[in-house]
Amino acid sequence: MKAWRLYGFNDLRLDEVPAPVLKPGHVLVEPLCVQPSVTEAQLAQGIPTLAYERVKKRLETEAPVQLFGHEFCARIVEVLPGGSSLHPGDRVAARAKLPCGACSLCASEKSHLCRRGPVIGFDLPGCFSELALLPEIALVKVDDRISDGEAACLQSLSDSVAAVETAQFGIGDSVAIFGQGSMGLECLQIARLSGAGVLITVDVREEACRISRELGADHIINAMKSDPVSTIRELTGGNGADVVFECAGGSPKQGLSGHRTLLQAMESVRSGGKIIGVSWFGRPLELDVDLLRERSLRYLFPDISTLSHLEHTVRLVASGRVRLKPALTHVLRGMESVPRAFEITANKGKHQAINPAQVVLKSKLAKRELGTGNRK
Ligand SMILES: [Zn+2]
Repeated sequence: MKAWRLYGFNDLRLDEVPAPVLKPGHVLVEPLCVQPSVTEAQLAQGIPTLAYERVKKRLETEAPVQLFGHEFCARIVEVLPGGSSLHPGDRVAARAKLPCGACSLCASEKSHLCRRGPVIGFDLPGCFSELALLPEIALVKVDDRISDGEAACLQSLSDSVAAVETAQFGIGDSVAIFGQGSMGLECLQIARLSGAGVLITVDVREEACRISRELGADHIINAMKSDPVSTIRELTGGNGADVVFECAGGSPKQGLSGHRTLLQAMESVRSGGKIIGVSWFGRPLELDVDLLRERSLRYLFPDISTLSHLEHTVRLVASGRVRLKPALTHVLRGMESVPRAFEITANKGKHQAINPAQVVLKSKLAKRELGTGNRK
């Protein structure tokens, strides 16, 4: 089968490799639609972010290696007889981080807290290939009402569900969200469904602001035109928002905000309020911890998303309560376009992409996908 393998940073090659062999607890799938996550796209170029050291070590000791590809929609082609609740023909999406199944947390039914298990795309091959072998505990069946392109976003959406759950805000609480990329737009919609009061979003891109309005934000601040901190304070009676999601941070070279939006989040949340840190910064930050202490701010990080979160994303999207299609700005076709998808996703600012660029791998599905998602 054909599979993309990384030989080093900035060196992705399409190789012929042996097809994986089915084993207990696993299913064999053919990927239908796959997208690099922003993290994966940055790692492929050697940009420090989440899991950089781990990927660097694998490249130094094991290259070429099949890396990345945890955000996908795939169709099951083979299961072991009697060994699976899934069936050939079922479409599936996955969570990336898996419990180990062997430690004391896993034994005490707290496997959602386990950090020892493998991560799809980092420890196990993902879906930048014609076939993939996946652990069944990672998978959820995709509802017929969800397109392949939408299903490829469910992994990211499950992280956004976990992020909003971590915030645990009350009905009517004011919520501000910095960054209206895919996760910012997801957090907006889930916060809205979860009873948020006034919903304020911030971005520097006109198109992202437009989509944010379409998806239900009450006030959209274009930070190129007005100061988000003073505007959020004005909109919340002078105190600041009860909860602020920070979804814009990261390398400015990739069009992200550095950590400016985190500093703005600290200034635009009310005293005693919560900042939910969704961004990865790729380097240590210098922060005024005394300011956090003085104002009793809670700087919280989302829990790992679980299978329950992933199952909930299927309900949210199938019912139309969360809409993903407005953010699907770049849809490519065919295995050969994978490097292009990495390039677009690593430089979303330059390409005016909202969601990562998707690759439709099965051409017979391409027409339907392109008809609904592609606007380029
Ligand atoms: Zn464990």
